[in-house]
Formats: sequence, C-alpha cells, structure tokens
Amino acid sequence: MSYKNVITTLFVTSLVAACGDTDAPQTPTTPKVGDAPASVAAVDTQRIMNAAQEPEMWLSYGGSYDETRHSSLASINGDTIQDLGVDWVYEMDKPRGAEATPIVVDGVMYVTGSWSVVYAIDARTGKELWTYDPEVSGEDAAKGCCDVVNRGVAVHNGKVFVGVFDGRLEALDAASGEVLWSNVTVDQSKPYTITGAPRVFKNKVIIGNSGAELGVRGYVTAYNVESGDLEWRFYTVPNPNKEPDGAASDAIFAELANDSWGDTGAWTTDGGGGTAWDSIVYDTVNDQVLVGVGNGSPWNASIRDPEGDFGGAYDNLFLSSVLALDADTGAYRWHYQTTPRDQWDFTATQQMVLADLPLGENGASRRVVMQAPKNGFFYVLDARDGELLSATPFSEQNWTTGEIDENGRPVITQEAIELDNMVVVPGPTGAHNWHPMSFNPKTGLVYIPTNLALPYVYVDNDAARSAKSHWNTGYDSASAWAYEFPKGTIAYTQTLDGGSLVAWDPVAGEPAWIVPFPQAFNGGTLSTDGGLVFQGNKRGEFVAYDAETGERMWTQRLVGDAAAAPMTYELDGEQYVSVLSGWGNVSMMIYGAALEKPVTPEPGRIVTMKLGGKAELPSPLDYLVVESPKAPLVGDAETWQLGMQRFAENCQFCHGAYAISSGVIPDLRWSGISANEDSWAAIVRDGALTDNGMVGFSDIIDDEEIEAIRHYVLRQAWLAVENGTADAPEVAALGDQ
Ligand code: CA
Repeated sequence: MSYKNVITTLFVTSLVAACGDTDAPQTPTTPKVGDAPASVAAVDTQRIMNAAQEPEMWLSYGGSYDETRHSSLASINGDTIQDLGVDWVYEMDKPRGAEATPIVVDGVMYVTGSWSVVYAIDARTGKELWTYDPEVSGEDAAKGCCDVVNRGVAVHNGKVFVGVFDGRLEALDAASGEVLWSNVTVDQSKPYTITGAPRVFKNKVIIGNSGAELGVRGYVTAYNVESGDLEWRFYTVPNPNKEPDGAASDAIFAELANDSWGDTGAWTTDGGGGTAWDSIVYDTVNDQVLVGVGNGSPWNASIRDPEGDFGGAYDNLFLSSVLALDADTGAYRWHYQTTPRDQWDFTATQQMVLADLPLGENGASRRVVMQAPKNGFFYVLDARDGELLSATPFSEQNWTTGEIDENGRPVITQEAIELDNMVVVPGPTGAHNWHPMSFNPKTGLVYIPTNLALPYVYVDNDAARSAKSHWNTGYDSASAWAYEFPKGTIAYTQTLDGGSLVAWDPVAGEPAWIVPFPQAFNGGTLSTDGGLVFQGNKRGEFVAYDAETGERMWTQRLVGDAAAAPMTYELDGEQYVSVLSGWGNVSMMIYGAALEKPVTPEPGRIVTMKLGGKAELPSPLDYLVVESPKAPLVGDAETWQLGMQRFAENCQFCHGAYAISSGVIPDLRWSGISANEDSWAAIVRDGALTDNGMVGFSDIIDDEEIEAIRHYVLRQAWLAVENGTADAPEVAALGDQ
C-alpha cells in the first residue's frame, strides 16, 4: 500500500486484560435481602471449580475458571429461539460505556456499570436489591485512556469484589452493598486506573490495572479475601533501577527479565507499561494464575528503551506476554511473549481460555491456554509449561511475515521495525480487543469478535517528541490524520473494513466460518449447548447464530448497542440470556467518524431475555441528525493546524477523531461552548467541568493553543457544512464573535 493510499484507507486510533488445598466453604452471616436466599454469594473456590455441575449459575466473570464462556444450558436452542423475547430491563444510573458480564448466583445478579457502580439485582424480576457507587471523582476519571468503564465483579463467601476506576479494590457485603474493606492498590498520584474484573481463587482476590498509554508500571496484586491484606504482588516490567521490589517478581527479574531492558530511556521514568488490565485466569489443574500483560509505555520502543533493538536481546520482558504465576506465592512459572519489544500497542491482555484439545501425542488430550490478542495471531500454548503449540494469523496482519521461527518468535518484517511511513495492520485497536470470545467444547470452535484491519501509521517525528499531552505513546497522535486535514470527511472512514465474528478452529488453525460486519466493533460472545452463539453488535442488534454454520437464527433489536459479552443462567427451570447494552470506551469514542450515525447517549441497560418474554424495550432517544455550527468560522490555516495537533494529542480520545463525536460525549462542533471563547477557556483551561471527567489542561497547553483548538473545532463544523453533512446556519443569527 502506498502512503498516498493511506489517506483513503487509514483510520486513526490511539487507544485508547491440579488444585492444591482449597478454601473451606463458609456460611455467610448476612441477612436476607429481597428475594435473595439467606446465603448470598456463597461462592468459594470449590464451587467455581465445579461450575459445570450447576450451569444454572454464572459464578465468575468468564462463567467458570476456564473462562470458556460456554454454558451447557440448552432449552434455548435452534428449535425454540424464535420464542425468545425480552423479559426484564434494568436501567443503570449513568450513561457511558457498558462492558461488564454479570455474575448470577442463587437468584441474584451482581454487575457493574460505568463509573464502577455495582448493582445487585433480583435475577428473576430485574428488581434492584442494592446499588453501590464508589464515587469516582471527575479528576480520576480523566486519567483513563478509554472511558470510565468496568467489566464486572467477583463474588466469594458473601462478598462482592469490585476494582474501582481510581485504583481501589473493594469488598462489599453481598447482601447490602456495604463496604467491608477498601484497598488503594495503586499510587494515585500516577495515572493508574482499573477497568478489569477481579478474580478469586483460594481465598485470594487478584486485580491488575491500566494506564500504559499515560505512563505507569504494570503489576498484579493478590489480596486476602477476608482481611484485604496483600498476599503477593508481581510486577510485569522491571523496577526503574533494576532493584528488588520485595515482590514475588524479584527473582525472575534478577535472573532474566532485567537484562531484556537497557539501562536508560523513558521506561526508567515513565513506568514501562505492561499493565494487566483485563485477562487474569486461574488454572485449577496446574494451580497457577495466568496473567495477560499489556503494551509498552511509551509505545515507541526507541524512546522507551533506546539502547536496545529487535535482535532479541532487548525483548522488554514481560510486555505483551502471557505469564504463569504460582497461585499461592505469585512466583514465576513460565511466560510466552506474543510480541517481543512491542512498539505497536499490541497488548496480550485479551481473554484467555483454558481447554483440553486433542493436541497431545496421537491425538491425546492436552490442556492448553488459547488467546487471540491484538497482534492478530491465535495462540495455543501448553498450559503446564507455556510451550507454543501453534500461532496462526486469525486476521489480516502485516507486521510479521505470518511465520513463527524455530525459537517460537514471530518473524517481524523490517518495515514494521523501522516504521517509516508504514501502514501497520492491525493498529492499536487490535485485531481483537477486550470483547470476550467463547469456546464451545462440542463444536471445538472459538467464537472471536474481531476488528478487521484497522490500520495505523506510527510516526516518530518532532511533534511526537515535543507533544503536549498526558497521553504518552511516543508517536505523533496527529500523524494519522494530519495528512487528511483539512479535507476531513466522514466518507472515507466508512470505507474501512469492519469487524467479524470468526469461528476459529484452534486445532486446524483456520476459521470454520466467518460472519462479516460492515462496521468495526462487535460485541463479546456467549456459546451454549443449545448450539447457539449470542452476540451484540454496533447496529443495535442482539443476534443468535448457529454455532456450526454461522447462520443468523434470531435477532432482537436493542435500544442501544451491546459491546459487552452476554451470559446465561436458569431459574425455576427457565433459561435466561442477559446482556448489557450501552456503548463507550475509546475505540467507540474515537471512531465517531466511522459510524453511519452517532450513537445515542442511552444509559447502560441490563437486557434479560427468556422464552416467551414479552417485556417492551423503551423507545430510543431521538437521534440528532442534522446539526449546524453555532459560531462563524474563525482562525486561519496556521491556527487550525496548531489546533488540530493539540486536539489530536489531548481531545480525540474522548471527543473523536476530526472532532466528530461518536455520540457518547457531546459533539463539540455543535456545542454552544465551542462558540464562546470565555466558556471554552473556563472549561478547557480552568476545568469548570472537572466533575464530569473533563479536567482543565492549563498544565500542559497554553491559552493560545487552547483557543487554537476551538478554532479547529469550528473549522470542522463548517467543513461538515461544506461536505453536506450539516446545515448552514443563518450567519446573522450567530451574533458577533
Ligand atoms: Ca494499550
């Protein structure tokens, strides 16, 4: 692809993870609440290990310790699916992204919404039992790369655990929502956040963190479920001085990982990244915890670790790796690095699934861990020792030749190492992101929601090295679309390839079938013994597909869109399917220009269906179709250029590339605030809307730059008029500016 063609195909993104002794079951002493049984959340390690024996529950984030997201419930199947309808809908308090998978245990659903709010709901009726709002501040909300989302809770012995956006891990009374203990798990002076679901195993609760886009050092921490005391911590990248931390990770860093980093560079001051923000899986057979590790910080490896190169000696362990840790001590067991010396934001935080596949000698069963991380390869590793069994591209990718060498390393192309105006596929959004995949042991297929071919140009230039931004990737945030300015149109972004639902055969290493979507981003998946795969998509649909063929069997219109993974449970012999609707997160927010229409700012909802369900969904809010600028065009090419650069560095992650909002956050082009210099300065400079998560930027950009951003936004508004996507207002009605 020539660089000139980039501007017709490129779209920008900048993003925005045999059991030994088990804990004895305990009887919670919590009181009866609503219709919940006396013992609420009476879940322990043994019960989750036996999750297959009670498919009517959904006991942990991924449904079971193996996190297959497959249920043996089958009364909803190909013969009955046409009778599936909405049974109850619960509306959450706050809009913004909904990414969580609910847990259902003994008739109660526990789930999180945006802003880390926890909800306990009667799973039969949708009636609220309690809610808990940890009251995340707007200032902490602004630390996020990717919206104030949360992917769910863990439950254990009458407690509900939530990772709060500002870095707290909290244990709530499952009966009342009362806080039993609260730990700050991060240095809150740094841009750490938590969006992932905690996991429990052996009387421990484990949580990671996020923040590698802004500059932090990643780690996971296991706490005692009862006391909240720290049991062990494992850092994923070295101590800045390569000194011991007094942590479980010390030994392997001294032995191996410290030497995979140089002694200087941004990693020594900015943390190095490696945040484990999503997938953490307890392997009951090998009594180990598998941790999916994120990208480097900053992304640009020549800034992060300038002494090193891609020869193999500077792989920057354990970036972009699957790490296996002893469940009791956190001691290192093994690792497999999917992307050595990551410089493309290729996290390996994506969901891991444990399964037994016929990959042993003579087709014998072998326990494996499967992952489809951002970099476009589907990995099958031996769960016991991390041996690479296969790595096969499941999506278009051009950063490697598609091959793995004799040492199990990807064969990275010279072009992808040098990044000289190369259009890299996939880009930072990844071929697959946090949207969970599922594995059906009967079909042997993994159902992956992919983002196909969303490319990126990683440009290391003067602008990258002098950027004024809390974001810290080491690449020019404006580069990908600077070339397109000022002709910014919606049209070409809509020509991008979309995502797909890929049914992947992990033994054959090839897809069994693919359902393509016209647009990027489709939701997480659920697989069932009813022979179905459930999935939401970006067109407001919730769909059931035939697990063997991919045939669309059934569709339910939602009010909003569903990105989160569905789950299923059974009460009184009736099977329910539940999914959260409501869309947010950086991928969504930045890609507003690629949408057919903006999403509506719908609240997050829990939509629960059963056979014969007859509940009505609320009517969608009206789409604001035609807008118009609220002020005359101001500025000139020079201020627009400056404004575009600073907008790209600071604003696009929430307000959308080209200042085109996805709808999750109001579109600045049509805002009265953008029309008024003083209001704009009060917010952008002075932080008048800090409570909403919009902090002031006076610490990094000056008054002239702040005003230049406003000029750029108005330029984009008038550009939409030129392009016929907005109405021209009566200029006389706009008043003097
Ligand atoms: Ca990242």
